[in-house]
Amino acid sequence: MQEPILEAHDLRREYTVKRGLFAAPGTVKALNGVSFVLEAGKTLAVVGESGCGKSTLARLLTMIEPPTSGRLVLDGIDVAAADAAQRRQLRRDIQIVFQNPYGSLNPRQTIGRALEEPLRVNTQMTAAERDAAVREMMAKVGLRPEFHGRYPHMFSGGQRQRIAIARALMLRPKVLVLDEPVSALDVSIRAQVLNLLVDLQREFGLAYVFISHDLSVVRHVADDVLVMYLGRVVELASRDELFANPQHPYTRALLSATPVADPDAKRERIILKGELPSPFAPPSGCPFHPRCPLAMPVCRGEMPRLEGEAAHQTACYAVEAAAALAD
Ligand code: SF4
Repeated sequence: MQEPILEAHDLRREYTVKRGLFAAPGTVKALNGVSFVLEAGKTLAVVGESGCGKSTLARLLTMIEPPTSGRLVLDGIDVAAADAAQRRQLRRDIQIVFQNPYGSLNPRQTIGRALEEPLRVNTQMTAAERDAAVREMMAKVGLRPEFHGRYPHMFSGGQRQRIAIARALMLRPKVLVLDEPVSALDVSIRAQVLNLLVDLQREFGLAYVFISHDLSVVRHVADDVLVMYLGRVVELASRDELFANPQHPYTRALLSATPVADPDAKRERIILKGELPSPFAPPSGCPFHPRCPLAMPVCRGEMPRLEGEAAHQTACYAVEAAAALAD
């Protein structure tokens, strides 16, 4: 195993929220003990429904906000213990691409200027060096040279996402956090952007944290998959293992709703009861128990822990019981 480029150890994030004029403030546990290890050149997919904590995790990983507790280690450096110079470098080493690139681009700034900006702010490069670097990166992400002087509104959704990816790569980071990077794109464009990401990963040796609700996309890009539910990791496995042998009832339900390429393949759709519970009042015990077809009395009272081999871990009493029976 290579040295990890990114490590999360029991990351937690709580928010204090006001609940009205006379009510005491409440606490929302948006992220509740997330741990993983990511190697250079690999992709960890983070999947789950909206509200499961994926975007909170993205903000913590990119140092937009600090964790309430837990440890984040980037390129061997503990982020919380880093001095100012190290933090500046770490912020360059991890960059983010959002679902909606239009929102992160200044409508009054040309694309050339937008791509040059991170170099102007963070490096000592001359104007000529910056211009050459911008044009080189535009070519790498498939943007034609004449786009240099155009404005964001003049581009299609796919082209804007290429611009956002180029901008994220200008400082040559080691890790990219991709927050639903193809969800807003037409199906025909998605494959092109995914292929671009795969090519760039190979060329730059990048590690990706690929956040998505769409397992059919994850299947194409991930090395490992982390499934989240209400701020917790419920299953963590290699991509092949997770798709061949999903264990957690929530993962099975997500997979059952994923289209398969083989028209003859039969898959029973698992319909989950109810909605994702409010993080203000999470269920006791296993947070999935109100929707789980396999829930047992113990599930209502106690929180299952992630158990299993390092290559495939699941937090579920039913999976534990089945494994014990098989032994
Ligand atoms: Fe279902 Fe219980 Fe497993 Fe939670 S611990 S997923 S409620 S069987």
